Amino acid sequence: MGIERLVDTTLDEENHEEQALENSLRPISFNDYIGQERMKRNLKVAIDAVKKRSDGTTLDHILLYGPPGLGKTTMAAVIAHEMGANFRVTSGPAIERAGDLASILTNLAEGDVLFIDEIHRLRRAVEEVLYSAMEDFKLDIVIGKGPAASSVRLDLPKFTIIGATTRAGAIAKPLQDRFGLVERLEYYTEDEIKKIIARTANILNTKIQPDALDLIAARARRTPRIANRLTKRVRDFADVNGDGIVDKTTAEQSLNLMEIDDLGLDPADRNMLNLMLENYGDRPVGLSTIAALTGDEETTISDYYEPYLLQMGLLERTKHGRKVTKKAKDHLAKTGKI
Ligand code: ADP
Repeated sequence: MGIERLVDTTLDEENHEEQALENSLRPISFNDYIGQERMKRNLKVAIDAVKKRSDGTTLDHILLYGPPGLGKTTMAAVIAHEMGANFRVTSGPAIERAGDLASILTNLAEGDVLFIDEIHRLRRAVEEVLYSAMEDFKLDIVIGKGPAASSVRLDLPKFTIIGATTRAGAIAKPLQDRFGLVERLEYYTEDEIKKIIARTANILNTKIQPDALDLIAARARRTPRIANRLTKRVRDFADVNGDGIVDKTTAEQSLNLMEIDDLGLDPADRNMLNLMLENYGDRPVGLSTIAALTGDEETTISDYYEPYLLQMGLLERTKHGRKVTKKAKDHLAKTGKI
């Protein structure tokens, strides 16, 4: 990967400090999970219905999709908590062989929630084993090889799979069909982001003045992970350079130092938009061309950076590719470069 981006929506798995921060800030119940009201409503209905029945039915499998950092993992853990269930975590790329999945599934207890992050990256052979496991809680295992091979069917405990993906479209139809509930996470409103920052500041024991909070919220890309990261950085800056209280000036200075502008764009975003404008002007540009211009992977652009730019009306998707909008041009002119 290239340079570290503060507005990166992915979690740096190697950064233990960031992991510890995320864990300490993670909401545990529906009550402290801010925003995503429609999704919460739907999930609450589903959970209450299962709780009311006492016939041993389990919660339907759930697919959560949307850009990274919006709270899919957090919501999965909240669901397990609300169900009073164990929460087990794995990911698509981590399950290398069908046998790995078999051992995860046979170790589950009745009612457990198994969270599979990046479920669109499951291998085909693994995915096929998952189908019947999800459908009727059976596991088909082939024993031996060649003509002597035989297959055994094992009963599994009734569990709930919660899959998360940034790309619902990348999931095979048969897998998608096995989820009883499919919920899309939306970008947060600025008000919700403010609530998240206020909650975070409270947990971190930091005072943030209201106008400083507005400023951080505007630059947080409507994404809780980024809101939390910026809050922590601004707090550190205030501790080092002031009396520890985050006021507007401190927030502004520290965010400017990070080169995050008032729309939440960082140098890499501005660079991409500028390169598109310089090379193609108002013409649409294909994803592979953008990737070649910036030196990023296509999926990095389409899954991580583009969704926010589209959401903010800075990029526009046309049949022939992506176009930089007038809003983006005006913004770049204001921030000093086109
Ligand atoms: P995803 O799985 O979609 O990439 P996460 O669930 O890991 O995102 O969320 C990233 C961080 O943002 C979490 O550590 C959590 O602290 C915070 N967060 C996410 N959603 C919310 C929310 N609705 N309210 C408060 N904090 C949230």
